[in-house]
Amino acid sequence: MTTPAHPTHGTTVPTPTPTHPALAAADPELAALVGAEERLQAETLRLIPSENYVSAAVLEASGTVLQNKYSEGYPGRRYYEGQQNIDQVETLAVERAKALFGVDHANVQPYSGSPANLAVYLAFAQPGDTVMGMALPMGGHLTHGWGVSATGTWFRGVQYGVRHEDGLIDFDQVRELALEERPKVIFCGGTALPRTIDFAAFGEIAREAGAVLVADVAHIAGLIAGGAHPSPVPHVDVISTTTHKTLRGPRGAMLMSREEHAKALDKAVFPGLQGGPHNQTTAAIAVALREAAQPSFRSYAHAVVANAKALAEALLARGFDLVSGGTDNHLILMDLTPKEVPGKIAAKALDRAGIVVNYNTVPYDTRKPFDPSGVRIGTPSLTSRGLDVTHMPLVAEWIDRGVAAAGKGDEDALAAVRAEVAELMAAYPAPGLPV
Ligand SMILES: *Cc1c(COP(=O)(O)O)cnc(C)c1O
Repeated sequence: MTTPAHPTHGTTVPTPTPTHPALAAADPELAALVGAEERLQAETLRLIPSENYVSAAVLEASGTVLQNKYSEGYPGRRYYEGQQNIDQVETLAVERAKALFGVDHANVQPYSGSPANLAVYLAFAQPGDTVMGMALPMGGHLTHGWGVSATGTWFRGVQYGVRHEDGLIDFDQVRELALEERPKVIFCGGTALPRTIDFAAFGEIAREAGAVLVADVAHIAGLIAGGAHPSPVPHVDVISTTTHKTLRGPRGAMLMSREEHAKALDKAVFPGLQGGPHNQTTAAIAVALREAAQPSFRSYAHAVVANAKALAEALLARGFDLVSGGTDNHLILMDLTPKEVPGKIAAKALDRAGIVVNYNTVPYDTRKPFDPSGVRIGTPSLTSRGLDVTHMPLVAEWIDRGVAAAGKGDEDALAAVRAEVAELMAAYPAPGLPV
């Protein structure tokens, strides 16, 4: 079978791997579930902004025998022998991360974004210390000191938000809070922030307050790598990121910093928090970082943002209320209050229409977190499949029809959208999935 050139993944994907023969033979029940998930990911329009499609190469790397190896420690300093290959794998990943993001130091071992952030606390704070981050309902992450998270119970979390009027971060509030509370660590970044993060403004405040500033770029790492969002590098002490969102790598995370913080971060990850690194993930991170250094990745990153802006325009034209009035990045947060459909009901109806989103609180939400007013969407996955700005009016139309049908309980209308979605998706095969 030939491998067609793909508009945003270069020429290497999708690779046809229609079956998992060993898995099907050993465990047909599980193999059937994997097959069903492959079909679901192929046929639906996936708009969850933290999700993506990794390349076939990343998938292959994450399913290798590297997973059989224990490697506690770091390259050249391990507690187990037989590291001839693993040391080189990890060094490749580290060097590629340093080159791509322009940093002195990278640790590629954190198991995921949440443990990466926990390692930051371990490196720079003591239990009971004051830490600061954006409140979860305002768009921050659980691990930025929110109450139900270990980070909000082992530390004293103080939280900033966005303004009610325009949905933007209020830097006067951030400065006031930082100078009053003197946190050891300040987190910037989040999970539902549709606007560019002003790392320079946070940097100034953190220096005034004497705090360690962490840019948690989990969502936007791919945009930064591809030049579609400003880099935090000159302004922050530590960069924390997942590798599986816009960066389009395996589920994992990295911590990056200047040389001065290298030791503290490494010690916090291992032995502070973790045992052996997941070497198959490290390998897949290395592959993803190599892909992210290619010109096609820059095109992808800029296309993600262009698609999100075009989708936001089309939604605004249809009367949707978008938090902050639009987007600068890959993410759109819709407040469905004017549509008189709760976020959860809309999200579940859209799922039946083949459009996968998540319900989400909006700033100053009057509804409960488990039944909020908003729906969060994003363009990384559809961009990885090659959809462009000319498709966004249609995507907005589908969302509009889906939300309207949710309000009326019109299952036929949802089924009609689902068929249209599946037809378009069939024309844009997803990277890494069997054709
Ligand atoms: C996704 C995310 C995380 C956590 O990542 P997990 O891999 O789910 O633990 C942390 N911070 C931010 C800002 C995120 O968006």
